[in-house]
Amino acid sequence: MSETAQPASTARSSQAKDWARPCQARSYAVKKGVKQEITDLLENLIQADFPTLRSYELSVIVDRSCDYVTAVSIKRRNVTVWIDKTDIRKMNARARIGALVHELCHVERDLKKSPVRCFAEATLSLALPSIVTRDERMTDELVIAKGYGKELLAFQKYHDRHYEPYNEQDGLTCKEIRAKLTKRNSDASNLKS
Ligand SMILES: [Zn+2]
Repeated sequence: MSETAQPASTARSSQAKDWARPCQARSYAVKKGVKQEITDLLENLIQADFPTLRSYELSVIVDRSCDYVTAVSIKRRNVTVWIDKTDIRKMNARARIGALVHELCHVERDLKKSPVRCFAEATLSLALPSIVTRDERMTDELVIAKGYGKELLAFQKYHDRHYEPYNEQDGLTCKEIRAKLTKRNSDASNLKS
């Protein structure tokens, strides 16, 4: 994976909390419990549904008062996940999983891209927010395809309750996620009948 891979979105509306942009190296000592809990959860998710990430070293950074909820970056064989301590404590278990799976899906998608493409997207996204929008929406699609749609919806609901709601430029909205879940359920029932 390219070292130039960037931790995704900056295209969210100005007041929406950007869940994909790390703070500037602000880190605080935190109770080991929170960090260990998230590390364990991420490791379980990777073992269950992200086989391509099993060989990567995982780092978790718990931060405070960030302008994102969760974020991720990849460098060489290391995946680093940032989480906002306040948000992660406030979220219920399902929303936590939704947020973390979204970040792991970013990594999985980026690993399939060439280093040149990653670099080009990271550079062009500053001038073309539509690149970030597409990336966020396709990442949400992958979350749903992996079977974590309800968890993604729980996270979006948490976010929209506490911050300016995401819109179509930020990723899939709650309404869009609900529609996709309904369609998946309907497709699954049709297959059974
Ligand atoms: Zn994202």
